[in-house]
Amino acid sequence: MLRVVEHAHRTDTGRQRPANEDSFLARSPLFAVADGMGGAQAGEVASRMAVDVLQEGLGAGNGTVAERLTDQVATANSRIFERSRTDQGNAGMGTTLTAAYVDTEELVVVHVGDSRLYRYRAATLERLTDDHSLVEELVRQGRLTPEEAAEHPQRSIITRALGPESEVAIDSAVMAVEDDDLFLLCSDGLTTMVHDDQIADLLGAGETLAERADALVDAANAAGGRDNITVLLFRVERTGASPAPAAAAGDEPTEPTEAPAATLAGVASTPAQPTAVMPAVTISPNGPETTDDAISGDDVDGTREPRRKKRRGVRAGPFVVLFLVFCLGVGAFFASQTVYFIGNDRGLVTVYRGLPYELPFGVKLYTPNYYSSVPVNTLEEAQRERLLDHRVRSLDDANDLVSKLERGEVVTP
Ligand code: CA
Repeated sequence: MLRVVEHAHRTDTGRQRPANEDSFLARSPLFAVADGMGGAQAGEVASRMAVDVLQEGLGAGNGTVAERLTDQVATANSRIFERSRTDQGNAGMGTTLTAAYVDTEELVVVHVGDSRLYRYRAATLERLTDDHSLVEELVRQGRLTPEEAAEHPQRSIITRALGPESEVAIDSAVMAVEDDDLFLLCSDGLTTMVHDDQIADLLGAGETLAERADALVDAANAAGGRDNITVLLFRVERTGASPAPAAAAGDEPTEPTEAPAATLAGVASTPAQPTAVMPAVTISPNGPETTDDAISGDDVDGTREPRRKKRRGVRAGPFVVLFLVFCLGVGAFFASQTVYFIGNDRGLVTVYRGLPYELPFGVKLYTPNYYSSVPVNTLEEAQRERLLDHRVRSLDDANDLVSKLERGEVVTP
């Protein structure tokens, strides 16, 4: 039987932001951190809405705790999305949400974005959540080392959030807990300022959890305090029966699929592309438009336009033409799938698979294949023109050029 024996939290605006857009919930056995983003006060609204939905409880529905918690997060997403559509002042807002529920025998975790959950056990700190961030995607693809990611100028760009889309993929996991495990939930205002080693040191010192929470926030501010900082600590005791056999699975916390009844399940659509919080893209008939939209940190003001309905003006008669276009389209589609080109998607240098053309009726012959970490507006004019010329390339050629760009090497396309 698990029991939360102590918890503490602290949230702080940091040294450079005008307001604190983080929200948190510390209502044992449920703990959550939400890191809002958007213009003006929108981020605060989004993170507050996410936490408020969790406050309503797990709901009376059937299903496991993980399923019900996931349902709550999906509800939060819907509400934030609707509000951002109907309330112009909050258009484009979004928030991360990482929540942990201390169930009777295990810890249930749901997670979207780059706020994090750590476990401190036997003087060892271990991160239990994956960041849904651009740099972590690049690390997973082997294109950046973790060290490079930690220093990367685009490390605050997240690829999933609650709010920007009508549906969101939600990670959920059930994790084994041992007696005296200490858990840390935090926003990226801590983790972009303070290395994991230092976090571990600070968690190992101090008498009370409140002191340790203070020490973490102070360390982030001492390092510059560039963002809002929220830390939430809770320590769990296992009482009664000896640790459940399932606790063995706790040895592999980063692989929640190995934990009992474990799930790390995307429950909704849109996990495939990092679409969630990047500014909207406009596609022109000649391929992806080249824009100078800078993607900056947490400032997500890329208001996503509602998808425009395509006007169809088909009258009875030109079916032959339609059929020919269809055949042409099918042929071109298959031909296009083995070639690549480099373009600009949402301000980032992007490798597209296909041909840089759009057929009638909005049939595109290309799809984004890889988003680089390089903003287009950091390229010099001449290089931009040469690189984003939509020339058809092999995959190796395109990847090689983009890899070089990411490493800061000179590129001669
Ligand atoms: Ca933040």
